[in-house]
Amino acid sequence: MEALSNRSVQVKKRKMTFVEKLYLPAILNGLRITMKHFFKKTVTIRYPEKTRPFAPVFRGKHILKLDDKGAERCTACGLCAVACPAEAITMVAAERKPGEENLYREEKYAEVYDINMLRCIFCGLCEEACPKEAIFLTPETVPAMYNRKDFIYHKDRLVEKKDHSIDITKRQTPGTTHPTNPTA
Ligand code: SF4
Ligand code: SF4
Repeated sequence: MEALSNRSVQVKKRKMTFVEKLYLPAILNGLRITMKHFFKKTVTIRYPEKTRPFAPVFRGKHILKLDDKGAERCTACGLCAVACPAEAITMVAAERKPGEENLYREEKYAEVYDINMLRCIFCGLCEEACPKEAIFLTPETVPAMYNRKDFIYHKDRLVEKKDHSIDITKRQTPGTTHPTNPTA
């Protein structure tokens, strides 16, 4: 065949020596490299049992905060859903009934509040848009799951638990949770 350019090189296959044909030096060299790494400090960690320390600005899964009296702060205004670039938030608003004052802070509340964690990009814009300091991103990660529908977080997994409060005070406006600032 005619050469396309004068840069072509004819590669000659070198014959293997007797020792090379035994493959023993190559195997021993491979074992030596393996053993060298065997006693080194591992760079991997046993996630999820162990996690690395997160940066102070880390944004993980969301929480819908309660006020000091244990009532939901969210008034279903929809600003977080409008601000969300991933269209991950859906909600249905409802009117508070007499006797539900201890459950919902204002006359309107979110009867349904869902976040699709597969769509969410954890940008934090929902948190910034909220005028009621009701939604925050926490330092906790969204755990891996087997079904896509399990990544749709409903209120049962979003609303703050009274017995499991996640510290997000660094993200809150100072004084927000204090009773002297009830309209925040
Ligand atoms: S963090 Fe960003 S993407 Fe996720 S729900 Fe909030 S606004 Fe949407
Ligand atoms: S979380 Fe905040 S922005 Fe979103 S609906 Fe509730 S009050 Fe409005």
